[in-house]
Amino acid sequence: MWKFGVKTHFIAELQSLSEGERVKIAGWVYRKSELGGIVFIRLRDSTGVVQVVVKEGEASKEDVERARSAGIEASIVVEGRVKRDPRSPTGIELVASRVTVVGESPDFPIKPDSGEEFLLDNRHLHIRTTRMRNALMIRREVLRATEEWFIKNGFVRVEGPTFVGAAVEGGATLFEVPYFNRKAYLTQSSQFYLEAAIFSFENVYTIQPSFRAEKSRTRRHLTEFWHAEAEMAWADLNGMMDVVESLIRYIAEKVVERAGHILESLGRRFELPEGRFPRITYDEALEIAKRKGVLIEWGEDFGTEAERAISLEFDLPVFVTRYPKKAKAFYHKPDPERPDVVLCADLLAPEGIGEIVGGGQRIESLEELLSRINEEGLNPRDYEWYLDLRRYGSVPHSGFGLGIERTIRWITALPHIRDAIPFPRTPTRLYP
Ligand code: ATP
Ligand code: MG
Repeated sequence: MWKFGVKTHFIAELQSLSEGERVKIAGWVYRKSELGGIVFIRLRDSTGVVQVVVKEGEASKEDVERARSAGIEASIVVEGRVKRDPRSPTGIELVASRVTVVGESPDFPIKPDSGEEFLLDNRHLHIRTTRMRNALMIRREVLRATEEWFIKNGFVRVEGPTFVGAAVEGGATLFEVPYFNRKAYLTQSSQFYLEAAIFSFENVYTIQPSFRAEKSRTRRHLTEFWHAEAEMAWADLNGMMDVVESLIRYIAEKVVERAGHILESLGRRFELPEGRFPRITYDEALEIAKRKGVLIEWGEDFGTEAERAISLEFDLPVFVTRYPKKAKAFYHKPDPERPDVVLCADLLAPEGIGEIVGGGQRIESLEELLSRINEEGLNPRDYEWYLDLRRYGSVPHSGFGLGIERTIRWITALPHIRDAIPFPRTPTRLYP
């Protein structure tokens, strides 16, 4: 890790030092107490927490006074010597010879009993807490594993633009933004741009934000979320599901391998059982939902409640395939054997989490795509360039979008999706 001039060691590195070694560390006051004139500071940096003992004799009277007056979250630099102490949870302490306060922190606002709204209003400070740091470290590992899987499997990263001219996922969730003397929208998905890129690179992906004006306030929707998307030339629906299954398994394995201890501190026991992910049809899923008392008509998309009921039937993520055509966007390829359903698949995560991936086979024929655009009452002129992809060397292809925050929420069992992202955006939250 990069180390800048102020410190000789990160806190995690102190473990390997022997009794008496002299070090200089820097961090923030995590806890503080005093007993018989001795000040005990639990100091944290990005790597861990260590107990610092500040007492007269080892340090000056002024050092003890500075330690005593440092508030929670004050930044301090401590010089001292390592003391092996079997009673301390980390096995070591630091006996301070010098304490310097770099940044005061009078009355840090985040308290153990702070309410949810207060914490959200103070998100810029809340992200320093153990719980948020743990959640964000899992996010880091999910993003890293996702990117790694794509690189290892030869996918080429291609980003879509953020400003776009037309909807991918339906007009209801479009964010409109002024664009000089025209209207633009924030992208809901980079799918169409990735579809254009398969003709150059065959297998492509991106990891970037998508924006959706989700009016319903749920525990699994953000208005800005990170979207890992992929498109694969020559892939059919089954090939797409194989890719998703391999990716999800890789993410789950790497997160456990690299950050299992963090999941544990979040109170989460996470393990993805062995075995292939089950693949069931919409019709079969509908039966499960109905049997469990969720009332839906054939043709409707599954809502939170139905997905919850279905996913609770399985201890692995489950693919639900072949949704009714009318429940899905126009670009999904109708099943040639049964044109009222499309060759799509949503992956529902277990434990009631519901959809974390949505994807399917795309229509490759120009005529069929045009007729679906007209059928949905969309303007073909908005999709001219997308139609070109079917005019020049069209190929069968499939793709999917994985919600990074939904995946994190599943792996961590966080109660709300907003804790899977540092600065969440929801219909009511634009600050900080
Ligand atoms: P839902 O029905 O749950 O709103 P969707 O069908 O609109 O999802 P897709 O368009 O298939 O979702 O998007 C692909 C993936 O992106 C989803 O499986 C989900 O993981 C994620 N996703 C979609 N919308 C959101 C959102 N508003 N907030 C967070 N993640 C989202
Ligand atoms: Mg949606």
